[in-house]
Amino acid sequence: MKNRGFLLSDVINQKRAVQHSRGKRAMLIVNPRARRGGGSIDAARQVLVDAGLQIEEMATSKDENASELISRNADHFDMAIVGGGDGTLNNAAAGLSYSGLTLGVLPLGTANDFARTMGIPADPVKAAEIIAAGHQATVDLGEVNGHLFFNVASIGFSAELAGELTEHAKKRWGTLGYGIVAARILMRSRLFTCYVDHDGTTEKIRTMQVSVGNGRHYGGGMTVEETATADDGWLDLYSLEVDHWWRLLRLLPSLRKGTQGQWDDVRAFKTTEVTIRTKQPRPVNTDGELVTWTPAHFRIRPKSVNVFVPKG
Ligand SMILES: [Mg+2]
Repeated sequence: MKNRGFLLSDVINQKRAVQHSRGKRAMLIVNPRARRGGGSIDAARQVLVDAGLQIEEMATSKDENASELISRNADHFDMAIVGGGDGTLNNAAAGLSYSGLTLGVLPLGTANDFARTMGIPADPVKAAEIIAAGHQATVDLGEVNGHLFFNVASIGFSAELAGELTEHAKKRWGTLGYGIVAARILMRSRLFTCYVDHDGTTEKIRTMQVSVGNGRHYGGGMTVEETATADDGWLDLYSLEVDHWWRLLRLLPSLRKGTQGQWDDVRAFKTTEVTIRTKQPRPVNTDGELVTWTPAHFRIRPKSVNVFVPKG
């Protein structure tokens, strides 16, 4: 860590962190395959230790995923600190929700969209300082066919993207990797028919992609909806009903800001429960992982996980 010199505010913050954290027990789960999982967490870990946390590092295995690891050990800990990207958090979602352990996020992934949603800094050392400071918020989770997610679940284009973007490409190319593979899939993408059951109605639509967001960001800084938050009790659905890939180009700035619902060929609404049916089963991408298929039943799980977040 760079020496920033002596700052009174640092000393005061450090003192507050120690008051909050001293003697608390934290399990630390780091995804060794995360983009920055190889190194760089040592300094973050030191911040947590200096704040008085008792850290025990635990590893997932092929027989035990992050949720199972958290559930099995929950009684011995006050919090679970997860180092990884959105996929790693997704794997921990069920364990966090059922155990009630507070989540600390060390962003080490390619995109870190949940961290972005919560205003947690991308720098693991700064993120560790947030955990040490101890300020918490309670967030909702989305659920699709029994699988929990933090950010967004999609059917169509982005599920294909997740299927084709290999671990290798993610590491090598980072956000650029999304762009290259996305362009390739876009060139050949076609609209498909789906039936959307929500709030007492059924809509038949032709779409390129349907996304159901719980949080605010996904896909490396894209925005589900400009007012969406992870604690508003709502799922935000949007459907891209553009009939040609080049029309999507014009939408890109809006997709970034979350204002795509203002375009004629984008359907967007808030709901708490929705079912999406397709003629052929289609994969559902939740936070970058393909976990289930249509028909897909979505619902909000309000106030499911406590998270350490920046104050104010
Ligand atoms: Mg929400």
